[in-house]
Amino acid sequence: MADTSSPTLRPGARVTVMGLGSFGGGVGAARFLAGRGAQVTVTDLRDDEALADSCRQLDGVPGINWRLGEHREEDFRDVDLVVVNPAVASESPWVEIARQSGALLTTEIGLFWQLNPGRTIAVTGSNGKSTTAAMIHAILDAGGEGRTWLGGNIGGSLLEQLDAMASTDWVVLELSSFQLEHLDRQKAAAEIAVVTNLTPNHLDRHHTLDAYRHAKQAILRWQSPGQAAVLSSDDPDVAGWTTAGCRLGFGRDTGCGAGVFLGEFADADQAAIVRVGEVSREIPLGGWVRIPGRHNLHNAAAATAAALLAGAGIADVRRGLQQFAGLPHRLQLVAECRGRRFYNDSLATTPESVAVALAAFDDPVVLLAGGYDKQIPLAGLADSIGEHAKAIALMGETAGMLDRHLADQGNQIPRSVCGSLEQAFAWAIAQSSPGDNILLSPGCASYDWFTSFRERGKAFEQLARGWRQAA
Ligand code: ADP
Repeated sequence: MADTSSPTLRPGARVTVMGLGSFGGGVGAARFLAGRGAQVTVTDLRDDEALADSCRQLDGVPGINWRLGEHREEDFRDVDLVVVNPAVASESPWVEIARQSGALLTTEIGLFWQLNPGRTIAVTGSNGKSTTAAMIHAILDAGGEGRTWLGGNIGGSLLEQLDAMASTDWVVLELSSFQLEHLDRQKAAAEIAVVTNLTPNHLDRHHTLDAYRHAKQAILRWQSPGQAAVLSSDDPDVAGWTTAGCRLGFGRDTGCGAGVFLGEFADADQAAIVRVGEVSREIPLGGWVRIPGRHNLHNAAAATAAALLAGAGIADVRRGLQQFAGLPHRLQLVAECRGRRFYNDSLATTPESVAVALAAFDDPVVLLAGGYDKQIPLAGLADSIGEHAKAIALMGETAGMLDRHLADQGNQIPRSVCGSLEQAFAWAIAQSSPGDNILLSPGCASYDWFTSFRERGKAFEQLARGWRQAA
C-alpha cells in the first residue's frame, strides 16, 4: 500500500470508507469525515442485512452514499482518500486501483493517530491485549489526573472524541497486527508501547510467523530514546525484541532490570516486585487483581509498569485494579452475593477456552455449559468440565451430548440437562454454597437460544443481578 500522507479534509473531499465492519471503526470514520464536510461512500462486500447494526448507527448522517454487497471501481478510482478497514489485505486489487489513481490511503486508527492531541500508550500481543489495555486505562482513571481514553482494536472509534481531548490526556490504544501494519507506514511511535506475548496467529493473513512478528514489531520500530517499551521477559520471542526507547520488563523476576516482576509460586496475594523509575518496592498484586487466572496477573504486571511510567502512583494501581471487573463476557465478574461470585465468560465458545477458565479458579465452580452445536468434538470439553466443576448445568443443543460423554466417563458430578438459561441458573444456585463461583463458560456458540454471545452473557448477568437484588 502507498505511504499514507496527511488526509485532505477539505469540505467536499471525496472519501471512500472500505469495509464498514461491525466493530465501530468504519462507522466512526464515516461519521467523522461526513461531519467535516466530506462526500463519503461507504462500501462493503457484506450487504445491509449483514451490516444492519452498523448501518443503523449511520442513519440520518448527511453526505453518505452507500455501496453495500459489492465494491465498484469508480469508488476507488475517482476519490481523494480511501479509509481501508485493517482487515483488508494489503494486496487487495481495489486498494491497488486507489493507489494507482493517486488517492491517499489510511485507516480509522491511522486517521486518529494523525489528529490525536494526547499522549499514547499502545498495547499489542497475541493474547491479553484488550485486558491489559483496559487495566492501564482503569489505573490511570483511578489517578484522576487529566482524562484517559481507551480505544483501538477494543472497539468503537475515538475520532469523534477528538475535540474533547487535551495534549495532557493519555490515550490507551489496543492495536492488532493489522492495524500496526498500516501504522508502520506512518512511522507511528507511541510514548509507551506494551507487548504482552507472541504466539502464531492470523497466519491466514500474514502467511508466515516472520511476517506476523514484523507487523507486531512496528509498535517499537519508530520509537526514540525519550519513549519507553514494556516487554514480556517470559516470552522467548518478545524478550529478544529491541527498541530505541527505555526498556522495561514484566513476568518472572530476572533479578535485574526495570519492570514489574512476579515470583515463581503464586499464593492468594501473589507479590510483585516493582522497579520503575523512583519506585522500588514489593506490592501484593495478586490481592488487588479481581479477575481470575495467572495470565491476568501477567496482564496486571504489564499494565502496572505502563501506568507507573505514565505517572500513576502505587495507590492508583491498587484502586484501578481493585475496580477492574474484567471486560464484558471474558471471565467477567458480574455480581457477588451471599458468598457466591458470578462470572460471565460467554465469549468462551471453544472447549479450550473453558479449560483455561476452569483452571483460573481455586475455589469450587458450579458451571453452566453447552449451547449451539458447531459439530466439533465435545469429548475434550466433557473431560475438562468433568475434572474441574463441582456441578454442571447443561444447556442448549449440545446438552444431551455432553451428558452422554460424562455418563460414558462414569462421572458422578451432579449435573442437570436444563431447558432454558433461567432453569440452568436456578439449578446452579441450588447446587452452590458460600465460597463457590458460578460460571457461565459454555464452550459452545450461542445461536440455539440467543442471537449472539453478547445476548447470552447479558441474560446471565441480569439473572445474577436479579438474584442479588432479591437477596
Ligand atoms: P486479546 O485482546 O489479545 O484477544 P483478551 O484480553 O481479550 O486478549 O483475552 C482473550 C482471551 O485470551 C482470554 O479470555 C484468555 O483466555 C486469553 N488471555 C488473556 N490474557 C492472556 C495472557 N497474558 N496470556 C495468555 N492468554 C491470555
